[in-house]
Amino acid sequence: MFKGFCSFKCTQCGNKFSAPHIEYLATIYPAPQQCPQCGSMITRPAGLFGKLHEGIYRKIWEKYEEENLINK
Ligand SMILES: [Zn+2]
Repeated sequence: MFKGFCSFKCTQCGNKFSAPHIEYLATIYPAPQQCPQCGSMITRPAGLFGKLHEGIYRKIWEKYEEENLINK
């Protein structure tokens, strides 16, 4: 479901960017979006929401890695 834009922070290069807010598998969590600067998928929402839910994002990133969605 498209819910407008969300601010993301890349955990690899620290870049902050704005990307469409797409729910991750029908959860309340915005799916990580690819960093436009370094191409990493290891991104999470910027700010408090992302900080509080970093544990959940770690699981999502692991899943992305398993599915080889991360291009290095
Ligand atoms: Zn980056």
